[in-house]
Amino acid sequence: MKRNLVGGEWVAGDGHENRNPSDISDVVGIYAHADVQTTEAAIVAAQRAQGDWAHATVQRRFDALDFIGSELLRRKDELGALLSREEGKTLPEGIAEVARAGYIFKFHAHQAIAPQGELASSVRPGIQVEVTREPVGVIGIIAPWNFPMAIPAWKIAPALAHGNSVVFKPAEAVPGCAWALAEIISRSGLPAGVFNLAMGSGTVVGQTLLNDSRVSAISFTGSATTGRNVARAAAHRMVPVQLEMGGKNPMVVLDDADLELAVECAIQSAFYSTGQRCTAASRIIVTRGVYARFRDRLVDRARELRVGHALAADTQIGPVVDARQLDQDLRYIDIGKSEGASLACGGERLVKDTDGYFFSPAVFVDCNNRMRIAREEIFGPIAALIPAADYEEALSIANDTPFGLSSGICTTSLRHAKHFQRHAQAGMVMVNAPTAGVDYHVPFGGTKGSSLGGREQGTLAKDFYTKVKTTYVCA
Ligand code: NDP
Repeated sequence: MKRNLVGGEWVAGDGHENRNPSDISDVVGIYAHADVQTTEAAIVAAQRAQGDWAHATVQRRFDALDFIGSELLRRKDELGALLSREEGKTLPEGIAEVARAGYIFKFHAHQAIAPQGELASSVRPGIQVEVTREPVGVIGIIAPWNFPMAIPAWKIAPALAHGNSVVFKPAEAVPGCAWALAEIISRSGLPAGVFNLAMGSGTVVGQTLLNDSRVSAISFTGSATTGRNVARAAAHRMVPVQLEMGGKNPMVVLDDADLELAVECAIQSAFYSTGQRCTAASRIIVTRGVYARFRDRLVDRARELRVGHALAADTQIGPVVDARQLDQDLRYIDIGKSEGASLACGGERLVKDTDGYFFSPAVFVDCNNRMRIAREEIFGPIAALIPAADYEEALSIANDTPFGLSSGICTTSLRHAKHFQRHAQAGMVMVNAPTAGVDYHVPFGGTKGSSLGGREQGTLAKDFYTKVKTTYVCA
């Protein structure tokens, strides 16, 4: 059994089996569940270790993060295979995600040694003003299952780089990746207790982190429903919170778009990683002049996608993560049909050589933006095609959503592309590129119901993981 990491010790707990969504007869591993006591012990260990870590040299922080990044990059094939086996992304996607996690740690290693703070002259004579940054304290990190290496990396790395300690709670569906990452971190030279792993359920481990007054800040990624609960708990305790939640991302295709490019952008955005990306495009909004040609080409391409075992060489779309998500995908197929959308392809459970959660990529055509399949996050490989009269209507449909994470446009018109960049109500805008697929060295996050709190990733990550102090020195 793989155990939790508390104060530098590996601690046992109730064992839970984790199975491969491509083949549910394959047990990935058995992982200890932390209970309330173990989670509290992790918080205490993090609190004890944090003071010394806050004053550790930046060289020490750099070395630890650089070590973690190097090992992730060196072992990306092996860990990528574990990720694909556990979460169901294809092997190239799994390997790419582990590499990305490695680069994230290396980026934040450099952030640890980057000059911070500002000096200013005072408006009063004889005074120098210094603006410095200090660690926040113990950070509770709650992560989802869909990027089991990259999302923990982009929270843990900046937290440690800026002198905080961490209690990390991964999603129950992906303890294998979390444990592998924790094992590497445990050998990186961090003092015992600076990083702690508490695997287990959201209602036990997650809720304990939310309620404990020794946890100074919470960084959460997951669904909007859980996010609301996290925000309430943080507001109750008056601690900083960072929420990255759902999306209902639009991709607009204009009459003047390069048709093949637009179809490929839509295929990638809607279906890769089995549509289980917060940045996936689930609403494809197409202007009338190109609608019929785009629809026919998109449906042809969606039918060609090879769904199969995540580790098989020719697979393009892996399985859905678990039975619950598969039920949700199938339920939304019924909802779409019942509200009058026309299912042009896919939307069925597929039988393969292994017993897994395989589902054929689905395209609903002739939808409107009031339908539930166009308003609610499904988190599966299901796209709703929505016709629009012109660019203005397409933009208005794109923005008509409670979410605001990623928003894309395919056009050869610079005027429309620049107008869309300015008017899309989203934290990230993609021009002639898929809505998903982001760099690790620039800010990531959304607007409206998708995000709350400071941006993640890039240099802006430090705004959440540090407190600012302004000092006036009268010499
Ligand atoms: P959930 O909200 O179900 O879970 C997210 C995390 O919260 C998990 O670790 C979960 O634990 C935990 N959790 C559940 N209940 C509680 C609770 N009461 N208190 C504290 N923690 C709790 O999301 P999913 O894991 O299903 O992830 C999919 C969602 O994540 C989608 O909505 C997707 O859009 C979003 N997402 C957003 C991203 C963004 O950057 N905007 C990026 C990636 C995903 P457990 O699962 O173990 O119960």
